[in-house]
Amino acid sequence: MLRLPVCPHCHAVYSYKEVSEMKQGARLCYHCNKKFMADKKFGRFIFLPAVCLILILINVMIFISTDSFSIVIMLADLVIVTAAVMLMPLTVRFKPEKMTKSEKRKLRSEEQEKDM
Ligand SMILES: [Zn+2]
Repeated sequence: MLRLPVCPHCHAVYSYKEVSEMKQGARLCYHCNKKFMADKKFGRFIFLPAVCLILILINVMIFISTDSFSIVIMLADLVIVTAAVMLMPLTVRFKPEKMTKSEKRKLRSEEQEKDM
């Protein structure tokens, strides 16, 4: 589930840095030049709430099991938040973008040229 996204058309690999700097929306693949959507919704609506839940659970567990909990909780929270921020680009997904009719026609004419 947590891995760097690849192009849905040609499976070209994108680097961690590229994905983390990518904005939500349509992009052209650097490799096959086809359109896809960079989708960050999964990270925002599933991954982040899950991280918050883990954070709360761990805080409660530490709170129950130790007497000197404050510094332990601070350190644990810091580690979890840092890990979550680092994992965020791995939750980005690329979806193939639907082509418009004119784009399809252009693609088809290019294919026919190849056949001739
Ligand atoms: Zn591609």
